[in-house]
Amino acid sequence: MAHKLDFDQDLIKKYDKSGPRYTSYPTAPQFSAEYTAETLQTAIERSNTEMIPKPLSLYVHIPFCDTICYYCACNKIITKDHSVSAEYIDLLEQEIKMLAPLFDPDRELEQLHFGGGTPTFLNYDETVRLMGIIEENFEISDQCEMSIEIDPRKASDETLRLLVNTGFNRVSFGVQDFDPRVQKAVNRIQSFELVRDRMQTARDMGVQSVNMDLIYGLPLQTVESFGLTLDKAIELKPDRLSVFNYAHLPERFKPQRRINAEDLPSPAEKLAIMELTNNKLQEAGYVFIGMDHFALEQDSMVKAQQQGTLQRNFQGYSTHADADLIGVGVSSIGSVCESYYQNSSKMDEYRELVLAGRLPVVRGLKMSEEDLLRKEVINQLICHFYLDKRQLEDRWQISFDEYFAGEIEELGAMVKDGLLSMDEHSIQVEDKGRLLIRNICMVFDAYLRDNVVQFSKVI
Ligand code: SF4
Repeated sequence: MAHKLDFDQDLIKKYDKSGPRYTSYPTAPQFSAEYTAETLQTAIERSNTEMIPKPLSLYVHIPFCDTICYYCACNKIITKDHSVSAEYIDLLEQEIKMLAPLFDPDRELEQLHFGGGTPTFLNYDETVRLMGIIEENFEISDQCEMSIEIDPRKASDETLRLLVNTGFNRVSFGVQDFDPRVQKAVNRIQSFELVRDRMQTARDMGVQSVNMDLIYGLPLQTVESFGLTLDKAIELKPDRLSVFNYAHLPERFKPQRRINAEDLPSPAEKLAIMELTNNKLQEAGYVFIGMDHFALEQDSMVKAQQQGTLQRNFQGYSTHADADLIGVGVSSIGSVCESYYQNSSKMDEYRELVLAGRLPVVRGLKMSEEDLLRKEVINQLICHFYLDKRQLEDRWQISFDEYFAGEIEELGAMVKDGLLSMDEHSIQVEDKGRLLIRNICMVFDAYLRDNVVQFSKVI
């Protein structure tokens, strides 16, 4: 049965505190410079010797955008100059040529994702060249899930045709809001007609799955205006919808200083927008997957959640089995053999390291046994709203209630608030707790005690 949401304003207000989104556990702030390129090389060697080496997933970061969205908190470079992207593809080629041979050649690429920035900043020839580099260096599985983030303003018929012909079968459209006033206030102007046309063209060309990103909490948004945006989104019927919460942190993200704080919706208004979003999307047949994600009832993500096979990784939720993730490009994160690594986020440093023939890894983390156990607990809860204690006990040779005695005590208050229920076999997140899943996961996060302030809030 599909998960339902119970929107309880008072509870959401009560639990509104900063917390991680758990696209990894431990989370990125725990990465340290002790993890070097050599550590990654050793991890890759170990991953090749596992009884059944995992398939591979490749993330390619394209950091360029030709205009700036004022809400942006991404690692990007604003430019219209394609000589910089041409040079960047040279660097990606060198990085891929260093990395790919370290993996056993029979390990196929089962997932490929282009993220940004704006991956469709690359022109036709650049995209062809980049795909050629990937095809030369990796064995791409026939079943490979290939996905890309698309800026509707940068997606001509030619670009979409190329992506489909190259094998991209999932596309994600950045929309954020359809209201022209809001679009003007965040400097991202793209008409409903343009988005409708680009989505339809992608579908007509054979793209299997379309995702749309929206953001609530942007300047000049009201319950009424966002309601209209949701109606338009529903009319276009994307297979999946992500509705992110805008966190206004102008001291950290320079572009956000161009947003007038007085234009931002109040916390009460944001909460009302959130409630409306959940109601409208569920009425329109979308299932709440977790965090900010919704999918149509028949989507593979809903099926994976029902079957207990849903995963969580740096791209959010995924229906693919656990793979070793290779991240290439400036600031990219990867995960190989129980460790995480991250490339330099500074273009100059990234370039310098690659040109010196070194992997541009500058930080990371080797997971301990305890990290792995807690990661499994958090993943089960965040993906399935359910935790099977017995299964964990068998696998980890622990008594769950003894090992997590402190956590169970802490969860007591949430049980009283109706967020979850517990018995000797399991923890079950209730309808009221689904929107607050990250608060529940935070109880099992051993690193969090002193670190909460650097994460965004639930509302
Ligand atoms: S939000 Fe996306 S498209 Fe806009 S500036 Fe940031 S990275 Fe570029």
